[in-house]
Amino acid sequence: LVSKLPDVGTTIFTVMSQLAAEHGAINLSQGFPDFACAPELLEDVHQAMLAGHNQYAPMAGLPALRLALASKLQLSRNVAVDPDTEITITAGATQALFTAIATVLHAGDEALILDPSYDSYAPAIRAQGAVPVRISLSAPGFTVDWDQVNAAVTPRTRLIIVNNPNNPATSVFTRADLDALAAIAERHELLVLADEVYEHLVYDGIAHHSVLTHPALRARSFAVYSFGKTFHATGWKVGYCVAPPALMAEFRKLHQFLVFSVHTPTQHALAQYLAQPTHWQQLPAFYQAKRDLLAAGLQRAGFTLKPSQSTYFQLADYSQIRPDLSEAEFARWLTVTHGVASIPVSAFYADGRDHKLVRFCFAKQESTLDAALTRLSALA
Ligand code: PMP
Ligand code: GLN
Repeated sequence: LVSKLPDVGTTIFTVMSQLAAEHGAINLSQGFPDFACAPELLEDVHQAMLAGHNQYAPMAGLPALRLALASKLQLSRNVAVDPDTEITITAGATQALFTAIATVLHAGDEALILDPSYDSYAPAIRAQGAVPVRISLSAPGFTVDWDQVNAAVTPRTRLIIVNNPNNPATSVFTRADLDALAAIAERHELLVLADEVYEHLVYDGIAHHSVLTHPALRARSFAVYSFGKTFHATGWKVGYCVAPPALMAEFRKLHQFLVFSVHTPTQHALAQYLAQPTHWQQLPAFYQAKRDLLAAGLQRAGFTLKPSQSTYFQLADYSQIRPDLSEAEFARWLTVTHGVASIPVSAFYADGRDHKLVRFCFAKQESTLDAALTRLSALA
């Protein structure tokens, strides 16, 4: 067998979570909550199972869930989406991303990605025989240099992938960023894949501007979301994709042969849970308190922080602590020696570049964050 991805090893999230488990470390590496999701959501899944909703859902997703999502988009973003032709329920955001990439890209095509980039984008592009073209976000705020993006477009470019809010940078697009993205996409007839899984986890009153709210982008984008992120249930692997009918029809051609449909009882429960807007509106305040707790403790331990504007991650510069170590070495050392696991930011770049930054996840109970900070206080 000739490998399609010869240089792809095990993802950093698996590597660091395993290392944390081996060394009894507190795991602030892989991004997942250590607290329960809402009891009523669990009860609704249970009830859906007891009521017999245990067979295949329709290929595009349960109609009630797509309707609930269309209502949510109308209410929260003032965007009209047709639940029949423009929404598909997927096995998490990862499958939606892979499906959209496979839908658009042919062998030899190029796709632009902005580094630091989530680790699934480049392998999914390469698995199509296409080429990821990487552009780095600009220091210090991890903003996009749109002139550089424009200059990277070639006649082979078909797609640009954006992650807004950005994991791990935590930067958030302004409205002007969306305008610049739209201008480039229109000028070069590119499609856009917008990974917006952290849409509700934005802090300090900053607004999240979705591609769905920008008419020019709405017409040429696949937008991807994850219930795992929004409702504290990463293990459910349920997400969705929104795209205009012509794009969605092509997406579904692949989706039906990748998974056909996803877990039915969960879709019933999510449809009910989405009816209450406070279920997502309360998220910024909930997570901002955790962010502030972790940030204060990391600073006391000697880290210099990049302000976290969004997601459930905090970037921390360790150059006052162990400047001699690379990011991967530092993350390993911190796990093994001090019992706290993090993610080296170099994992989000192709060239393993070293900013002396690691990423900590604050989607944790206060007691977990306190315990991690107690361990880290030994660094100061
Ligand atoms: N995109 C980004 C930016 C993510 O951080 C994650 C998960 N951490 C995903 C996609 C994947 O989401 P899911 O677990 O729903 O597949
Ligand atoms: N997206 C999560 C993170 O950034 C991890 C998802 C995974 O383990 N594949 O930590």
